[in-house]
Amino acid sequence: MSKQYDAVIVGAGFGGMGAAIQLRRLGYRDLLILDREDDLGGTWHVNRYPGLAVDIPSSTYSYSFEPNPYWSRLFAPGAELKDYALHVAEKYDLRRSMRFGATVTRAEWDGSRWTVGLDGGETVTATYLLAATGFLSQPRTPDIDGIDTFRGDVVHTAAWDDACDLAGRRAAIIGTGATAVQLIPELAKAAAELTVYQRTPIWVSPKPDYAVPRALQTAFARIPQTQRLVRLLGSAVLELMMISGVIHYRRFRLANRLAERWCRAHLRRQVSDPELRRKLLPDYSFGCKRPTFSNDYFPAFTRPHVHLETSGISRIDETGVITADGRRTDIDVLVLATGFNLWDVNFPAFEIIGRDGKNLGEWWRENRFQAYEGVAVPGFPNFLSLNSPYSYSGLSYFTTIESQMKHMDRLFTAMRRRGSRVFEVTQRANDDFLARMTEKVGQSVFALGQCATANSYYFNQHGEATLLRPTSTVNAHREAVGFPLTDYTYA
Ligand code: NAP
Repeated sequence: MSKQYDAVIVGAGFGGMGAAIQLRRLGYRDLLILDREDDLGGTWHVNRYPGLAVDIPSSTYSYSFEPNPYWSRLFAPGAELKDYALHVAEKYDLRRSMRFGATVTRAEWDGSRWTVGLDGGETVTATYLLAATGFLSQPRTPDIDGIDTFRGDVVHTAAWDDACDLAGRRAAIIGTGATAVQLIPELAKAAAELTVYQRTPIWVSPKPDYAVPRALQTAFARIPQTQRLVRLLGSAVLELMMISGVIHYRRFRLANRLAERWCRAHLRRQVSDPELRRKLLPDYSFGCKRPTFSNDYFPAFTRPHVHLETSGISRIDETGVITADGRRTDIDVLVLATGFNLWDVNFPAFEIIGRDGKNLGEWWRENRFQAYEGVAVPGFPNFLSLNSPYSYSGLSYFTTIESQMKHMDRLFTAMRRRGSRVFEVTQRANDDFLARMTEKVGQSVFALGQCATANSYYFNQHGEATLLRPTSTVNAHREAVGFPLTDYTYA
């Protein structure tokens, strides 16, 4: 008979590790953390393209209960995030609960426990199931005519090949999202020619990035309150941007306009050619899709060997890319910075069958994408979906993780106080939450701004912006520690 775990957590990134730390604090010892990759760290294990860095200040982009005084920069390089993940796993003794190379394909509730199926046929069982599979974990390969016939090197940013040497070679990159913004300046340094295929421009603001002096790191280590203050400041600025620029757009439209002006001025300062500027300037409202920070993205386009192509890709053949107006560019290397598929394959990332055979993926698609407080779904007992519709709160993912840890604390404590082992969110609580989120999205830039041309992954296939929680992070925190316990049933 296979071993019965207290909980199976799918995903060994920061979300899954936060959930495991919380479950251990609650006294659950028999945990199994499954991950399809060969090590922990999630996004920060998988992504290692040149230029990778966090684009949220590092003192904020980390667990509040596990500050790292030694970030080398205000926006730390990606490798430091991976090291931080390793440190957290070591300190909280998580690795012994982890299994790698374990791809979960299916999970089913049988009335008292979850049976979790792995690629290869093995099954494990657990009382609780937590999906922490990330939002940006299913890389998107563009469906461009002829792409499979290309004979040169093809590399997706989420599967970077360190052996791929660009020196002296002709490269092309498809995509101009936050990843490409970090990568393009690095590609421009190495490649002999670089052609950037842009479909939708991105809002880019200056990046106030500085090396953290050794003396300040020492101060952070010796007097943790100093770093807490920096974290608080960083969180306050991000919160202000999110609340005034995106969520409360109806009330603070001016703040959104100011953010746009700030980005326009940045572009004007860095690019003198009006035609190039026109091509790089978004025509949708700030915040409709994720903006980013960079000081070296725009200047890369002013270099003579970097070409911005905006006429659209018609097809790719064995040796190059052909645009809609019939021009071809021969290349040696094709870089796909084409992001991730969220709504077709990632909600949920594996088949989840709840009570009475309810299929989560089908239910979300046939109804609306929804999850009570971004974590629980009616019909799915003992299941928490940490990457759900309306779960992403604020700009730093750690805000979401820690709110969810608090939600878990309140929920599991209440359940055990009642002598119960099974929880399920009520339909009424879920419906009320969905109605409230829908009303709030109606006040945001997603409903009131010009988002039609943004091509934003914040919107699902039904045209609803259901990824971000349209409230302040303070509200998310307040509800995580104070939601009505009657919003769940216990058995
Ligand atoms: P993304 O924002 O989804 O951007 C994908 C890009 O590829 C877009 O420019 C998209 O154009 C383009 N594209 C996709 N399919 C295409 C096609 N068939 N033909 C032409 N262009 C195509 O993905 P990403 O840049 O990887 O970023 C994803 C998210 O990761 C970011 O929004 C951010 O949340 C996160 N990120 C974070 C950091 C960090 O430091 N914390 C760094 C990088 C990324 P359209 O816009 O027209 O669809």
